[in-house]
Amino acid sequence: MSVLRRSIGLVEQECTSCLICVRECPCQCIDIERHTEQVSEGRRPRTVHVLDAFAIDFALCMFCGICVDACPTDALLWSETTGLAAQQRDQLVSGRADLALRAGD
Ligand code: SF4
Ligand code: SF4
Repeated sequence: MSVLRRSIGLVEQECTSCLICVRECPCQCIDIERHTEQVSEGRRPRTVHVLDAFAIDFALCMFCGICVDACPTDALLWSETTGLAAQQRDQLVSGRADLALRAGD
Protein backbone atom coordinates (compact mmCIF):
# COMPACT_ATOMS: atom_id res chain seq x y z
CA MET A 1 0.00 0.00 0.00
CA SER A 2 1.42 3.39 -0.92
CA VAL A 3 1.65 6.12 1.72
CA LEU A 4 1.05 9.76 0.88
CA ARG A 5 3.90 11.87 2.21
CA ARG A 6 2.03 15.12 2.64
CA SER A 7 3.41 15.88 6.07
CA ILE A 8 4.62 14.24 9.28
CA GLY A 9 2.66 13.77 12.50
CA LEU A 10 3.76 13.09 16.08
CA VAL A 11 2.00 10.79 18.53
CA GLU A 12 3.31 12.50 21.64
CA GLN A 13 2.44 9.81 24.14
CA GLU A 14 4.68 7.40 22.21
CA CYS A 15 7.66 9.78 22.11
CA THR A 16 10.39 9.05 24.66
CA SER A 17 12.42 12.17 23.74
CA CYS A 18 15.31 9.89 22.78
CA LEU A 19 16.60 12.35 20.12
CA ILE A 20 17.26 9.59 17.56
CA CYS A 21 15.18 11.43 14.95
CA VAL A 22 17.12 14.63 15.63
CA ARG A 23 20.44 12.86 15.13
CA GLU A 24 19.34 10.95 12.02
CA CYS A 25 17.66 13.80 10.16
CA PRO A 26 20.03 14.82 7.32
CA CYS A 27 18.54 18.32 7.14
CA GLN A 28 18.71 19.10 10.85
CA CYS A 29 15.14 20.30 10.75
CA ILE A 30 13.87 18.56 13.90
CA ASP A 31 14.20 20.50 17.14
CA ILE A 32 13.44 18.91 20.51
CA GLU A 33 13.68 20.33 24.00
CA ARG A 34 13.46 17.98 26.96
CA HIS A 35 14.32 17.67 30.62
CA THR A 36 14.90 14.69 32.88
CA GLU A 37 12.87 13.62 35.88
CA GLN A 38 13.27 10.88 38.47
CA VAL A 39 10.33 8.52 38.79
CA SER A 40 9.91 5.95 41.51
CA GLU A 41 8.71 2.63 40.21
CA GLY A 42 9.46 -0.46 42.20
CA ARG A 43 12.56 -0.38 44.36
CA ARG A 44 14.84 1.83 42.32
CA PRO A 45 14.18 5.36 41.06
CA ARG A 46 14.44 5.71 37.29
CA THR A 47 15.46 8.73 35.21
CA VAL A 48 13.16 9.53 32.30
CA HIS A 49 13.19 12.23 29.62
CA VAL A 50 10.18 14.51 29.48
CA LEU A 51 9.32 16.33 26.27
CA ASP A 52 9.14 20.14 26.50
CA ALA A 53 9.06 21.13 22.84
CA PHE A 54 9.04 19.40 19.46
CA ALA A 55 9.18 21.17 16.11
CA ILE A 56 9.84 20.26 12.49
CA ASP A 57 10.89 22.93 10.02
CA PHE A 58 9.12 21.89 6.82
CA ALA A 59 10.98 24.58 4.89
CA LEU A 60 14.09 22.41 5.32
CA CYS A 61 12.51 18.94 5.36
CA MET A 62 12.97 16.92 2.17
CA PHE A 63 10.44 14.23 3.17
CA CYS A 64 13.05 11.50 3.05
CA GLY A 65 11.31 9.54 5.83
CA ILE A 66 14.47 8.72 7.77
CA CYS A 67 12.97 10.08 11.00
CA VAL A 68 9.79 8.02 10.55
CA ASP A 69 11.84 4.87 9.90
CA ALA A 70 14.36 5.54 12.70
CA CYS A 71 11.87 6.28 15.49
CA PRO A 72 11.97 3.24 17.79
CA THR A 73 8.46 3.78 19.16
CA ASP A 74 6.58 4.72 15.95
CA ALA A 75 5.86 8.13 17.41
CA LEU A 76 6.49 9.74 14.03
CA LEU A 77 4.24 8.86 11.13
CA TRP A 78 3.32 10.03 7.67
CA SER A 79 0.23 12.16 7.60
CA GLU A 80 -2.12 12.78 4.72
CA THR A 81 -3.09 16.11 6.24
CA THR A 82 -2.22 18.99 3.95
CA GLY A 83 -1.80 22.63 4.87
CA LEU A 84 1.93 23.20 4.62
CA ALA A 85 1.61 26.16 2.25
CA ALA A 86 2.62 29.48 3.78
CA GLN A 87 3.57 32.98 2.71
CA GLN A 88 6.43 33.31 5.19
CA ARG A 89 9.22 30.82 5.64
CA ASP A 90 8.95 30.76 9.43
CA GLN A 91 5.29 29.74 9.15
CA LEU A 92 6.50 26.36 7.88
CA VAL A 93 7.77 25.39 11.33
CA SER A 94 5.24 23.02 12.91
CA GLY A 95 5.16 22.70 16.68
CA ARG A 96 3.63 20.14 19.00
CA ALA A 97 0.00 21.10 18.45
CA ASP A 98 0.28 21.00 14.63
CA LEU A 99 2.21 17.74 14.65
CA ALA A 100 -0.30 16.14 17.01
CA LEU A 101 -3.17 17.24 14.78
CA ARG A 102 -1.47 15.66 11.78
CA ALA A 103 -1.11 12.43 13.70
CA GLY A 104 -4.86 12.50 14.36
CA ASP A 105 -4.49 13.15 18.09
S1 SF4 B 1 11.56 13.46 6.59
FE1 SF4 B 1 13.82 13.51 6.47
S2 SF4 B 1 14.34 15.66 6.29
FE2 SF4 B 1 12.21 15.58 6.99
S3 SF4 B 1 12.34 15.70 9.22
FE3 SF4 B 1 12.34 13.52 8.68
S4 SF4 B 1 14.51 12.94 8.51
FE4 SF4 B 1 14.39 15.18 8.47
S1 SF4 C 1 12.93 9.13 17.53
FE1 SF4 C 1 10.76 8.95 18.06
S2 SF4 C 1 10.74 8.60 20.29
FE2 SF4 C 1 12.76 9.43 19.76
S3 SF4 C 1 12.55 11.67 20.03
FE3 SF4 C 1 12.13 11.24 17.88
S4 SF4 C 1 9.88 11.01 17.79
FE4 SF4 C 1 10.48 10.83 19.95
